[in-house]
Amino acid sequence: MKVFVSFLALLLTTTQVQAAPPNIIILFADDLGYGDLGCYGSPVIRTPNLDRMAAEGLRFTDFYSAAEVCTPSRAALLTGRLPIRSGMCGDRRVLFADSEGGLPPSEVTMAEALKAKGYATMHIGKWHLGIHEGSRPLDQGFDHSFGLPYSNDMDGRPGLPKGASGLADPPQDGWNVALLRDGNVVEQPVNQVTLTRRYTEEAVKFIRGSKERPFFLYLPHTFPHVPLFASPDFKGRSRAGIYGDAVEELDWSVGRVLDALRQEGLAENTLVFFTSDNGPWLIMGDQGGSAGLLKDGKGSTWEGGMRVPGIAWMPGRIKPGVTRELAGTMDLLPTCLALAGAGVPEKTVLDGIDLSPLLFQSKPLPERPYFYYRGDQLFACRIGEWKAHFKTQTGYGQPRADVHEPAQLHHLGRDPSEKRNVASAHPEVLEKIREAVKRHQDHLVPGAPQLK
Ligand code: MG
Repeated sequence: MKVFVSFLALLLTTTQVQAAPPNIIILFADDLGYGDLGCYGSPVIRTPNLDRMAAEGLRFTDFYSAAEVCTPSRAALLTGRLPIRSGMCGDRRVLFADSEGGLPPSEVTMAEALKAKGYATMHIGKWHLGIHEGSRPLDQGFDHSFGLPYSNDMDGRPGLPKGASGLADPPQDGWNVALLRDGNVVEQPVNQVTLTRRYTEEAVKFIRGSKERPFFLYLPHTFPHVPLFASPDFKGRSRAGIYGDAVEELDWSVGRVLDALRQEGLAENTLVFFTSDNGPWLIMGDQGGSAGLLKDGKGSTWEGGMRVPGIAWMPGRIKPGVTRELAGTMDLLPTCLALAGAGVPEKTVLDGIDLSPLLFQSKPLPERPYFYYRGDQLFACRIGEWKAHFKTQTGYGQPRADVHEPAQLHHLGRDPSEKRNVASAHPEVLEKIREAVKRHQDHLVPGAPQLK
């Protein structure tokens, strides 16, 4: 009997060990372009840690953020839904310090779903999903939060010259943004030079302290969004000015996080995903990044505005390689919930799909349309290699969109820079895309606008 009980206990322990739900970490850069990492072809910015992560993991060539700017992109990542469904998009483009709206409490975030499954949840970095009750990190499923309520160029102090955020050497005391811990002010204005380092220290501390329960760490970095700052160890070190310095420090941060997982023996049971909220802010000149061979950048529905680096890492579980499958940030919620054994929110329309078959079995994903929104307007749609533009507008500086009737059509394989409109030669492709758009729009229920 005694032997049997011991055997049973051993069996239970073994089962528990095998069934330990994986940890999840999302590393989210701000305004990092498709062409800004070594593993995505940058000749001027050194990113050895991200290059190693890509070499050990799965690197996506066709990974998309769900929006062309910050707030809607983050809302989509955390909910797995197009921003138009939550109302987190519109004419003002993002939330500002005086905005009254925010991520509605009715939205189910990845943090809420994982917390319900017993996960410890932490947000470190920029939030930008609302500062009012109901929308803040602790209201949206995070046990703890450390970071900025919105972008680091908001809340400029009196006398700050226009355009100061885009300077190569911006004033350190130019902005009044506060550093918050669990909603309480820790430092105001925050010393932005220290941010990447402090986020990293928090992340490592959280990882090392989270051995009892599975954890979800959402780490949306402040940089390389302008104004750009870097620690003394990184300032002036890259070939790409302060932008490159900030990205190289971000790369260091990724290395520290992955090292902590390795040291704690957690690497094989932690999914880490690295991506960016939107393309590079090109109007910032030297202080904006690069979308590589892709057209335009942040703010636009050309490829450079929404196609971003995407790297999945889970040693021993994810086979190293490069994938051309089309995927995006809205897929992370269904993927992570599946991994955690958590059900997806009931009665909620999701726009993402579970990437597990691709990540863990190298299986192709089903073909599906990808919708490119600018604010609450659908501008373009991609199916397979084909992308149709119904409207186009440069990210910043073009007051009104160009409307295309018939739509412009580009083959993203033969024409990744979207230079040649081949609509007249492929009417059947345009028709297929139009039908997909109609099906999408016929069933779409927009949320109450939040960005007022
Ligand atoms: Mg951004």
